[in-house]
Amino acid sequence: MRVMKFGGTSVGNAARFQQVADLIALHRVADPRLVVVVSAMAGVTDALIQMSHQAARGEPDWIPALAAVRDRHQDTVRALGLPEEEARTLEAELREGLERVETVLRAVEALRELSPSTADLLAGMGERWSARILAAVLRARGIPARAIDADTFLVTDDRFGEASPDLEQTRARAQALLLPLLEQGILPVVTGFIGATPEGRPTTLGRGGSDFSATILGYALDAEAVWIWTDVDGVMSADPKIVPNARTIPELSYIEAAEMAYFGAKVLHPRTLLPCMDRRIPVRILNTMNPQHPGTWIVPEPRGNGRVKAVTLIKNLSLVTVEGRGMLGVPGVAARTFATVAELGVSILMISQSSSEQNICFVIPSSAAPQVVRALRKAFEREIARRDIEDIWAMDRVAVIAVVGAGLRATPGIAARVFNALGNGRINVLSIAQGSSEYNLSLVVAESEAEEAVRRIHAAFYE
Ligand code: ADP
Ligand code: ASP
Ligand code: MG
Repeated sequence: MRVMKFGGTSVGNAARFQQVADLIALHRVADPRLVVVVSAMAGVTDALIQMSHQAARGEPDWIPALAAVRDRHQDTVRALGLPEEEARTLEAELREGLERVETVLRAVEALRELSPSTADLLAGMGERWSARILAAVLRARGIPARAIDADTFLVTDDRFGEASPDLEQTRARAQALLLPLLEQGILPVVTGFIGATPEGRPTTLGRGGSDFSATILGYALDAEAVWIWTDVDGVMSADPKIVPNARTIPELSYIEAAEMAYFGAKVLHPRTLLPCMDRRIPVRILNTMNPQHPGTWIVPEPRGNGRVKAVTLIKNLSLVTVEGRGMLGVPGVAARTFATVAELGVSILMISQSSSEQNICFVIPSSAAPQVVRALRKAFEREIARRDIEDIWAMDRVAVIAVVGAGLRATPGIAARVFNALGNGRINVLSIAQGSSEYNLSLVVAESEAEEAVRRIHAAFYE
């Protein structure tokens, strides 16, 4: 049994849907027990999220935006040339979904309020549509496919927008629902990205979450492998949009791939590998547009230790500094700092502390920076009044670059090469991670210099 996930660009238009159906038909010959996971058509999730914010602000712009999403789906269905009966049913289903979105958006607009679960309900609609379209395309080719909404079995907590699965409950429900279908030779086409709380409130797994849906399903169904089909030739040594000559990495370990995903390689959702690790289920990344390419295998054990495998980048970050000469004498400043940030539910990407202990720096998403600085100033009110802490501030528009590979910390010369490459480009390093994992070296640079920095570091190791 294999799980195959197709991303948004892989189902971006009618021709792409057909291409995906070709691939499924091909692989189903070798492995009839296939489960497919599908994302929303490219751009649809963004559009739905934007519409929900517009409605919440009382801006009527969501109305034409929704019409555009409707047209896009209807045009796709028409271009697919499905049998009449199939097309009619599909169009009716799409219409029903779109009407539901319209009703909800009208309510959001009237109330000027978007609750987190309503936001997730809306954001996840694109997957319901693409799963129905893909299932219809497959049926039209004689493959008995059925669209399955993942909220019927994928149980999550109630952290809307970034929910975590309850793997055991999901496993029980997925097996009860999907195994009988597989027994009957039916191919389930499951919506990525979405789930529901035990009470049935809609959730999403975070942006790019369909990758995670696929591995959750792989775990739940004891799959032999999970194949993630995307728009590039596997996981590459850098984002090919930034480094055009980036190369495919043929093999990566779970931890290396997870580290890359966590540090910004968008090709995988940061939590994708977690469900597969325990059961050692291999994950493969492939290109729908270039299916002959072997892509990347993600496997349990790292090979080629001490080699730089990839350079990653995350933008839209802020570097927060807590600084003061008196900090040396104040016990627990670091603990209190991080406790304050944790209380706000903000996750920290990287920490560094100067050896003189005159400051603590850490990196967080820019969206959280104002509230974090406010909370820290309040938490250290007394220390600030006594001048033990001189200032707490955030530097915006910074980026974290991570150089990833197993065993890097134990390998001499890597840092020197990285800093040389940046020095030659006169790129200033604002901070370096101290004591980060042995799988990466991470550093902070100004966002305006970040892409150039990635290119220079990549060139230092790959050219
Ligand atoms: P999908 O819609 O298939 O989920 P995504 O857009 O989420 O696809 O992810 C694929 C994109 O990830 C690629 O087009 C590429 O620009 C980007 N990317 C970033 N870093 C990497 C990397 N190291 N290797 C491959 N792709 C990367
Ligand atoms: N459609 C969702 C998103 O755009 C999930 C995914 O593509 O993986 O975030
Ligand atoms: Mg993705």
